[in-house]
Amino acid sequence: MVLEQAEQAPIPKTGTQKADQTPDQKIEKRAAELRSQLQKASYAYYVLDAPDLPDSVYDRLYRELQDLEEQYPALQTADSPTQRVGAEPAEQFTSVRHNIPLYSLENAFDTEEYLDWQARWQRLEPDVGEATAVTELKIDGNALALTYENGMLTRGVTRGDGVVGEDITQNVRTIRTIPLRLHTEAGQTPPPIVEVRGEAFLPLDVFDDINQKREAEGTALFANPRNAAAGTLRQLDAKVVAERRLDFFAYTVLMPAGSGDFSAPTDQWAALEFLQTLGFRVNPNRKRCQSATEVASYYDEWEEKRHDLPYLTDGVVVKLNSFELQDRLGFTNKFPRWAIALKYPAEEVPTILNDVTVQVGRTGAITPVAELNPVQLAGTTVSRATLHNADRLAELDLHLGDTVIVRKAGEIIPEVVRVLPTLRPTDAIAYQLPANCPVCGQPVVKPEGEAVTRCVNQSCRAILSGSLRHWASRDALDISGLGERLVQSWIDQSVVSSIADLYDLTLEDLLPLERMGKQLANKLLQAIALSKQRPWPKVLYGLGIRLVGSTNAQILADSFPSAAALAAADESAIAQIYGIGPEIAQSVRQWFQLPANQELIARLQAAGLQLAATTQPASQQTQPLAGKSFVLTGTLPTLKRAEAKAQIQAAGGRVSGSVSTKTDYVVVGENAGSKQAKADELGLTQISEAELIELLKDS
Ligand code: NAD
Repeated sequence: MVLEQAEQAPIPKTGTQKADQTPDQKIEKRAAELRSQLQKASYAYYVLDAPDLPDSVYDRLYRELQDLEEQYPALQTADSPTQRVGAEPAEQFTSVRHNIPLYSLENAFDTEEYLDWQARWQRLEPDVGEATAVTELKIDGNALALTYENGMLTRGVTRGDGVVGEDITQNVRTIRTIPLRLHTEAGQTPPPIVEVRGEAFLPLDVFDDINQKREAEGTALFANPRNAAAGTLRQLDAKVVAERRLDFFAYTVLMPAGSGDFSAPTDQWAALEFLQTLGFRVNPNRKRCQSATEVASYYDEWEEKRHDLPYLTDGVVVKLNSFELQDRLGFTNKFPRWAIALKYPAEEVPTILNDVTVQVGRTGAITPVAELNPVQLAGTTVSRATLHNADRLAELDLHLGDTVIVRKAGEIIPEVVRVLPTLRPTDAIAYQLPANCPVCGQPVVKPEGEAVTRCVNQSCRAILSGSLRHWASRDALDISGLGERLVQSWIDQSVVSSIADLYDLTLEDLLPLERMGKQLANKLLQAIALSKQRPWPKVLYGLGIRLVGSTNAQILADSFPSAAALAAADESAIAQIYGIGPEIAQSVRQWFQLPANQELIARLQAAGLQLAATTQPASQQTQPLAGKSFVLTGTLPTLKRAEAKAQIQAAGGRVSGSVSTKTDYVVVGENAGSKQAKADELGLTQISEAELIELLKDS
């Protein structure tokens, strides 16, 4: 970009149709609330360097206000946060007016918004087509404007509000990657005046060190490297700044077209290279892209790889390469039209809570679920989020219509993490968990000291449906074909009202049901009959006793070879079993004490289910593999990994995850990898699944 041309007055924004509408009171109020929330957040962020909201939440609320102002121009006030860039300069430093304002960047949160941006500039320049763009990493730091006169650094200024910044030259001089004198060849006259812009930032390891030190001193921690960098740049003592080891990447150079021995670059790519020759650190991860597809793959690549960088980035910046094109497009009052920031998917966003619904699980646990205005979150659309339990609800103090912050980190189910009470509608009603189960209408209970509210009516359809689905699941009784839809329809049509009813079903019961042919009915009856052969630990797990998952069921079944033995056991005897403990013991005890459950056991017994171990418990079995160590590798032809492991363990063997000289057998399946290679190297005994089954036969 060339200095003279960049100084032109900003071009007024075109291409957006403003609606000629008057906002109603509700909208007016929302805009006022958004302004106040954003102003509060900006103050915490820029002045206190201690943000109150995650950036992604701030960005979305900002966008909401921007959209409202666009739709209802009457709502735009002079003090709106949308009308300015950054923060006003702090008083302790001299204010400096920038020769050329430091604009902000327009944000795009998805490909569609990126393509909208492209279409907008292409409308202004219809002959250009897909222009070359330079993609750069968006460094999460603070913009600085550095002035060099005759090659010497004379001034370093923060961005401030974009028009006026703070003179922090003394602090800037401590940053090692900012040259005090421009690098020029011997005999070359440096340009008389150059302005270099770029991002000052704190590398992650330095940020961690600073916070560790602050923790030891008992000083408040910095929320993130960007705020820590901002706080550091505004330190009055340059020695402290020097200690903090700030770093800097340069990305813009502004100089008059003819500058002594130097001519100004004519595109962004050349500008970055030129900055490098002048002695600046320029981020190497840049690319020239010829199409939106190339931009998208750069973005995707860095969305992954950014986690390996020693500094934070919060997106990528796309700049049209040609300065001539940039100059023709110019600026809106806040952004250049020729650049855009593509932000990475947020893990926390604000949205509106429309309603709260309640789910009843198989243990009767009541889980409140937030019904939300759909939002894009970490790459997916989210319209529901868990509110966990009554305690969490009380903590959040939710009101219908609230603006809430939803988070989704990794694979975790989205959850509501916070409410923004400033944005609460005046007539909002506080949400209360219902006193009765929404499915059966019976009163719910919340045992003292427990966070979970429960429906305790064992004939509640929600509990029944959950219990049946659990009973039929693969790790329990493994009744293939009996899925959620079928379970629900059988309950609705009163075909079953207990797990035990499954074993009384006949072909005559099933045939009249909707969408039930003879073949399907027979298949289901067969699967139900087959489940009678499932061993005692699976049956115990299938009963769905609270806190008794498949591992605990196996442990309990090893110690108590039958339902009768477990039912008769004393709570303390159960609690003493290694890996069990008092809470599980109490849950087991309570379950067996309930007459309805005793009746269930009796009926299952009568139906022929395995309520006792067919062989002796593990402790008394012959254990042919006792003391032997196994490693499983590759895909076995018939046994699943977990099954093979369980059978080896039942025969007294140990299964380890890694091969060593202590391994007795390596069981090798298809596509075995490095473990087999290691076994070869150590000369260990390698066996097939068939050979393993032979070894197991004696147990
Ligand atoms: P921005 O940070 O989203 O984008 C513009 C900035 O990107 C530039 O000024 C520059 O500093 C930086 N940048 C990094 N790499 C760049 C590159 N290669 N080329 C060009 N520029 C590059 O926009 P903004 O106007 O600085 O401000 C708003 C930011 O501050 C947002 O991220 C917002 O979330 C945050 N904010 C947060 C809160 C809060 O409460 N959390 C409050 C106010 C502002």
